[in-house]
Amino acid sequence: MENLDGQLKRKRKENRRNKKYKAMKRIATFILTTCIATINTYADMNTESNPLLSPFNTVYQTTPFDQIKPEHYEPAFKSKIADANIKIKTLISNKEKPTFQNTIVLLEKESDEISRMASILFNLNSAETSPEIQTVTQKVSPMLTQFMGKLNVNTKLFKRVEEIYNNRLHSGLTDEEIRLTETTYKSMKRNGANLNQAEKKQLIQLQMKLSKLNLKFSENVLAENNNFILNITNKEDLAGLPESVIEAAALTAKTKKLDGWAFTLQFPSYAPFMKYSANRELREKLYNAYNSRGNNGNNNDNNKIIKEIVNLRLKIATILGYKSYSEYVLEERMAGSAEKVMKFLSDLHQVSKPYAIKEVNEVRDFAKNNGLNEELMPWDFSFYSEKLKVSKFGFEEEMVKPYFKLENVIEGIFGLATKLYGITFKQVYNIPVYHPDVKTYEVYDENGKFLSVFYADFHPREGKKGGAWMTEYRSQSNIDGEMIRPHISICGNFTKPTESKPSLLTFSEVETFLHEFGHALHGMFANTVYPSLSGTNVYRDFVELPSQIMENWAVEIDWLKTFAVHYETGEPMPHDLVQKLIDARNFQSGYQTERQLTFGFTDMAWHSLKEEFDGNTSDFEQKAIADTQLFDFIEGNSISTAFSHIFAGGYAAGYYGYKWAEVLDADAFSVFKANGIFNKSVAKKFKEAILEKGGTSNPMDLYIQFKGEEPSNKALLERSGLN
Ligand SMILES: [Zn+2]
Repeated sequence: MENLDGQLKRKRKENRRNKKYKAMKRIATFILTTCIATINTYADMNTESNPLLSPFNTVYQTTPFDQIKPEHYEPAFKSKIADANIKIKTLISNKEKPTFQNTIVLLEKESDEISRMASILFNLNSAETSPEIQTVTQKVSPMLTQFMGKLNVNTKLFKRVEEIYNNRLHSGLTDEEIRLTETTYKSMKRNGANLNQAEKKQLIQLQMKLSKLNLKFSENVLAENNNFILNITNKEDLAGLPESVIEAAALTAKTKKLDGWAFTLQFPSYAPFMKYSANRELREKLYNAYNSRGNNGNNNDNNKIIKEIVNLRLKIATILGYKSYSEYVLEERMAGSAEKVMKFLSDLHQVSKPYAIKEVNEVRDFAKNNGLNEELMPWDFSFYSEKLKVSKFGFEEEMVKPYFKLENVIEGIFGLATKLYGITFKQVYNIPVYHPDVKTYEVYDENGKFLSVFYADFHPREGKKGGAWMTEYRSQSNIDGEMIRPHISICGNFTKPTESKPSLLTFSEVETFLHEFGHALHGMFANTVYPSLSGTNVYRDFVELPSQIMENWAVEIDWLKTFAVHYETGEPMPHDLVQKLIDARNFQSGYQTERQLTFGFTDMAWHSLKEEFDGNTSDFEQKAIADTQLFDFIEGNSISTAFSHIFAGGYAAGYYGYKWAEVLDADAFSVFKANGIFNKSVAKKFKEAILEKGGTSNPMDLYIQFKGEEPSNKALLERSGLN
């Protein structure tokens, strides 16, 4: 999925992980609103020997990783699900009037228990997997999904929830209780709980068909990626490529049993070739192969599948009572409506287009002065841009690494949290971990009161997935006055120390650390009653605000001063190096913005259809993006046919969210910029309005509580130099 644009690769990876985890939480919630299945093995369970089924007798009741074995998960899930089933069965046969307490709270508590167990297993599968863990995950996932599929048959449960929902404003409920009633009701309704039997059946069939097509779409993209190989056997054709890229290509050739060097359409192979190869003909060849994936009229062609997918989604939306699929999706987003998203994209486009044109012209002139005698084509852009960037800024990643020793960065980031929020971190050694590399901390609030457990797992190893992510092993909650503080974790794949050198982070790793730490703060400060509304359980186009805002400090000299010293000499990071970082970061931001808007417009066009589509997909796409194009259309190129985010991932009517989150974080950070980047009262406001509140209110209301007004794109444009 990161193949669309390398610039956002890191964030997407991370987002994907967050999404997967969220999906599991949702599954757990579904289970509770669904199931009446009987699990026969329950009676045979020996619960006493299974640590997952006993209270955790560890410090802060942390997960006893040292006691849990892979074989404990399956029986534990079966037992918990069966237990939940019994409770729900009892609930729906209860003759008492449905109340918030006897229905919604019960669902919430049961869901939290299964959710906690799911988060332990699924996070372990990401951070320290093994064949055994993979096997049990494969067994448990369909168990959870099976219950999810039965959501719609549980009419009796929905009737109870609906009755509470209808009376929610006159039952003396608190705001948070009203919100929880609404989210529970809506989630069921949006999955078809209130349809008649025939419609429910139809909906399930459509959803099954859709998920098969989503899978087929991504299989086709994968096949298209794998079917093309650029095999170079003449050494001269490697001109311009850095040694590391050539080495990787030699290795690829070897694994494919080819002579010489091989380049593929995988992004880590494709992108450097486009950036560095001096061979224009080969660049054109690779570019066109990459940009026509899924559009070659072969067995992997996605044009027909796109039509089927958008028509199925429209049908699903219509059955559920919406005019378009985007209307269905955006109802549960901060943006709120398709009109608002379109205005958002168009406003940015108005500003960035003239910059983008200027940037392309600059590259055109530069290319002309550096030996390109023909017209600048899309396959020339990356190549000449890279050379232009080096000549303009003379900046390379290696220059800053000596200032980012991991231990110093940890000190700097914890120190930032102390400066802003008064919280402190104490490393401890008595909390069980799943791998000796994992560091554990107790976190205390400004009054010295225990706030959270914090796990940090920094380095790559076998059994750990790529990318970086934040998770929680236990959610915060405060039901019936029993305050449960959360157990938060961040995982990364940061540069490892060697025998002669400590771990020196790249600038982008520092940004990633800050980013995940921002999610972690969202989890640690959580202060709600109900766990499903706590911490990072917010709308998808809002969840990246607390994380991305932290990245702003990465280029603040006053913060860098507090820790960024050369690991050998102790010299602080020079000012002009910081300035180079900023300049290089904003290079071609108009062009990059137009690229992201192109994807956003494509997505919105497909998902705002109000009637069945039977046209030509390429014509449709061209029309949707005509305004954002900076080069003439090249016959055979297509975005949609390889756009897995929206046709195989969870980003349908959601791609705009990447830019949306940038607008939010820049706008929110501008308040710090105006009042001082360590301003405690701004931080307090941010904490109280946003970090503590989770999903207890509509995010726009929370944002206005912090800022006093709705976000505007002004700060982002300024930060990116588009003003
Ligand atoms: Zn994130």
